[in-house]
Amino acid sequence: MIIITKPEAPRGSQVFAELMEYLGALKRIRTRVHEEHGAQQTVTEIYLIGDTKSLDMADIQSLPGVDRVVRVSEEYRILGRHADDRRPTYFHYNGIRFGQDTLNIFAGLCAVDTREHVDIMMKALQDSGLNCTRMGAYKPRTNPYSFQGHGKACLPYVFELAGKYGIRVIAMEVTHEAHLEEIQTALEETGRPTGVMLQIGTRNTQNFELLKKVGRQHEFPVLLKRGFGITLEESLNAAEYLASAGNRNVVFGLRGMKTNLGDPHRNFVDFAHVPVVKRLTRMPVCIDPSHSVGSRDRAPDGLLDMFHITAQGVVAGANMILVDFHPQPARALVDGPQALHMSELAHFVEDVGIAREAYEKRVALAEKH
Ligand code: PEP
Ligand code: MN
Repeated sequence: MIIITKPEAPRGSQVFAELMEYLGALKRIRTRVHEEHGAQQTVTEIYLIGDTKSLDMADIQSLPGVDRVVRVSEEYRILGRHADDRRPTYFHYNGIRFGQDTLNIFAGLCAVDTREHVDIMMKALQDSGLNCTRMGAYKPRTNPYSFQGHGKACLPYVFELAGKYGIRVIAMEVTHEAHLEEIQTALEETGRPTGVMLQIGTRNTQNFELLKKVGRQHEFPVLLKRGFGITLEESLNAAEYLASAGNRNVVFGLRGMKTNLGDPHRNFVDFAHVPVVKRLTRMPVCIDPSHSVGSRDRAPDGLLDMFHITAQGVVAGANMILVDFHPQPARALVDGPQALHMSELAHFVEDVGIAREAYEKRVALAEKH
């Protein structure tokens, strides 16, 4: 059970202290207080943990200082959508809104290779009116002899160029807690020209110690990718690890499942789960058509499979798109075969716009019926 206190009863107030005293006297119930600092106001939530079944909602609701009471199901206590749950389904980061009602495109390099390519990529984004990107510095690779990413060496120029081209948020995978510090240091040293969304890749979805470390910091939001060989429930629980450690600014990423049943795509596209994740949780949902499809194959109608699959996710209400581009895909050090060409960026953005408009029309139609 979660109690949301009235704005006039924040932590430190007399009413709040009396409320905590009352709750403290309840048998077999522990409390945990969480404060959510939004742009407009701070919301204080008191989590009641333990034998809450015996508590009467109406009794708790009538206590002084209580605004609302939400009875949570066992699953996804913090990030879940519970009955009568009107907690927000969005957050803001570096001037960008991430919610179940927005759509942000993160087009960029799977792996940073040269400064010149980062410059070309970011300039193209600015020319297309985009202000988010993806840039891989730390690459988890299947083969130990493959390029592992430039690591912290590339961060200064990546951040500087992002500032130059008005990029507000860079999705960047981290595979070790040390990477957080390296990112923080490089941001500090370059004067914070941009923001970073920490990405947990599919190979680390259940790296619980990494999740706890990333969850304990409040500076950066997190993109958690679904594990490629585990159930949706297990991946959503992984997201809950981040929230239970303290960070609720989490976007959930669908990137396809590893099975030959999806052949000839690299992974079995799972964007049918966009509405499912939005129903079960309050997280915005990201789709990754690049790692799902994994090729530049084209359908007979002239559209790349990647365009079709992106549209499927967007038309179903996806909130973020993570997509690989490269100025010279043939020379990319990672995932070149699935990278879209710079000349395709404007087309991609326009095509996404059509799918988003269709989604908005579908929502409006559903409201009418
Ligand atoms: C990536 O986005 O570069 C990546 C490695 O993705 P995933 O973790 O989904 O394989
Ligand atoms: Mn990749």
